[in-house]
Parts: sequence; C-alpha cells; structure tokens
Amino acid sequence: MDQEGVRVCFTFDVDGLSLLSAKRRVGIRIPMEMEAPLRDDQGHFFDLALAFLNSAGLRQTLFVTGKVAEDEPERIEAALQAGHEIGFHGYSHLPLASLSAEEELAEFLRTQRYFHDRFGYQLKGMRAPSYSFGPRTPGNMRQTGMTYDSSQAGCHPFFEADGGYWEIPVLPEMDDWMHCIRFPELGFNDTPKDPKEVARIYRDCFDYCYREGGCFVTVWHPFVTMSERYRPVATELLAYIRSHARVTFCTMSEIAGACAAGRITQGRI
Ligand SMILES: [Zn+2]
Repeated sequence: MDQEGVRVCFTFDVDGLSLLSAKRRVGIRIPMEMEAPLRDDQGHFFDLALAFLNSAGLRQTLFVTGKVAEDEPERIEAALQAGHEIGFHGYSHLPLASLSAEEELAEFLRTQRYFHDRFGYQLKGMRAPSYSFGPRTPGNMRQTGMTYDSSQAGCHPFFEADGGYWEIPVLPEMDDWMHCIRFPELGFNDTPKDPKEVARIYRDCFDYCYREGGCFVTVWHPFVTMSERYRPVATELLAYIRSHARVTFCTMSEIAGACAAGRITQGRI
C-alpha cells in the first residue's frame, strides 16, 4: 500500500434487458415480473446510480453491456460527461466462456467500435458477464486495447503475466445479488437479507480490505442497490469508508494505472 492508502471503487454492472435476453437465449425462463425492474435497471435506476455518485462527488466505473449502451446513449454520455469510466461487460451478457472464438471476438469488436464511433471513447477494461472469463478473453482484450479485468475473487490486484493484463479482483460478498435478490430461475433461492445485515456484511468486507491494504470494489447493480430498500445501505457504506484515513476513491482504470506505475503492492491472497 502507498501513501494514497486503500483504493476504493463503487462499480455498478448495468445488465438491464441484456440479462433477460441472454438468459432466455440459453433457455432459462424469466418471470414476467422481472421485466420491469430490468428495464428500469438501464433507465431510472441507472439515473439514480449516477445521481448517487455525482452527489457524493465521486468519479467511478460502470460496466455496461454493448446492447445497453446502444439502447441508452444519452445516459452513457451523461456518465462520461460527469467523469465516470465506462467498462466492458460483454455485448449481449452471454457468458464469454460459452461462446465460439468468432462470437466472443464479435462481442468485443461491436462494443469497442460503438464506443469509438458514438462517443470517441476507448474502453480500458472489463468485467466478464456472470464472471465468465474464457481462455480467449485476454487475446480479445489486447486486440481491443483493454488493460485490466475485474472478474476474479480477492482484494489484491496482480499482473496476470500470461494474459498480459491487470486483474483487479472483487470480494464475492460485495455483489449485491448475493444478498438482495431472490431469483430461483437463476439459482438465487434465499430470502433477501435485511438492509442492516447487508450493511454489516459490506462493512466487514471493507474492514478486511483495509487491514489487508488491498483494493475495495463493489459489484452493484442499479436496480438492486439503488432500490428504495437498499439505497440507504450504499449511503451508509460511503459514510463509513469516509470515516477512515488513507482511503482514495478512484476509477478502475486509475487503479490499473497505479498498479502499472508500481504504486500499488501486488499479490494474490
Ligand atoms: Zn452482469
């Protein structure tokens, strides 16, 4: 750890309707009542996520699918204008490891070209949809100019020498789906936890990363953590983190840049 202390990034994965289509394409039945929340995930709740970050004076990273970006160019533009980073989260949200070489490359290229042509923007890193990072993924990252991934579990960034990219891992408990969503069709069978319990789990995760001197990264989804029920958890966690010395909020590409510059101790846990 250096003088900037623990790096923190509140990342949001914006799956929206891509999640619905991707699951239906592999034959999973998605109940009708999930359609509206997932539509709002890339709409109203995306706006709330931006408002939450902007009002806190934070510039963070949102991983969006190429399809969501094509559907919501004004929202992407608003995020970029506010100084946030947009990262790659697949084009269609299909698991990358399940795709053919041609299909996976097409996901990268279509999204990269869209961001280049529509926003003049270079995507710098990614989180694999459903954490499905395939053997061909590093090659596709290199081909499209990405330098980091955030799909593995942990809190210490490290250089993946074989793939030639930085891995900025996340603690699995920081994924809001683990606690706040009941979705039996996707294997989430438990009753959603009380917000107080979720807040305690997140604080414990931060304490662990703080002690370890690692990076603290959330995997939040706008329709989950920006819902009326769980939004106070995000606000409370922000205040808790800000009560600590030696904490720096930054985007994921800034974390990757600090790693590349040798300013962050690397190592696996
Ligand atoms: Zn996702």
